[in-house]
Amino acid sequence: MSLSEQAILDRARQVRALVLDVDGVLTDGRLLYLPQGPDQEAKSFHCHDGLGLRLAREAGWQVALLTGRRSSVVERRARELDIPDVLSGAFPKLPVFEAWCRRRGMDADQVAYMGDDLVDVPILRRVGLGAAVADAHQEARRAAIWVSSRPGGAGAVRELVEYLLHAQGRWDELVAPLLA
Ligand SMILES: [Mg+2]
Repeated sequence: MSLSEQAILDRARQVRALVLDVDGVLTDGRLLYLPQGPDQEAKSFHCHDGLGLRLAREAGWQVALLTGRRSSVVERRARELDIPDVLSGAFPKLPVFEAWCRRRGMDADQVAYMGDDLVDVPILRRVGLGAAVADAHQEARRAAIWVSSRPGGAGAVRELVEYLLHAQGRWDELVAPLLA
């Protein structure tokens, strides 16, 4: 979807929640399997995304991870970052997303969702601010109104959070304690 920069900014100002795909967004999409067993999947997360998600929580936004896979390391990463909602095994994703919105009293217009692949397209079309990572599938980039310059797993989520905080005029206030 192609919107003017001003129209995208207007949508960014409405955002009160951030929902993120995990594989290919918070990670580079590669799945590392260790030989020990089915729950030994390894993922590498980027520390810049971690601080970005802390800032999102500081801003008072709801934050949720929405993934088609099930992995204990995602739950561990969410606990470390104080993210209360991990929606795992979600396939298709849209009904799970809509149920989460109802549970959290959130209108889809107030949600920024970031994804990277075909399964994310229905949500990217549904939310107020659909965002794709730089290396997302072209259908996901087409459905999004905002595309990061960084690929998944390399600070794309941080880039989205900074864009939203600047749009809402909250960057200076939230970052000041870190610079003091
Ligand atoms: Mg993905």
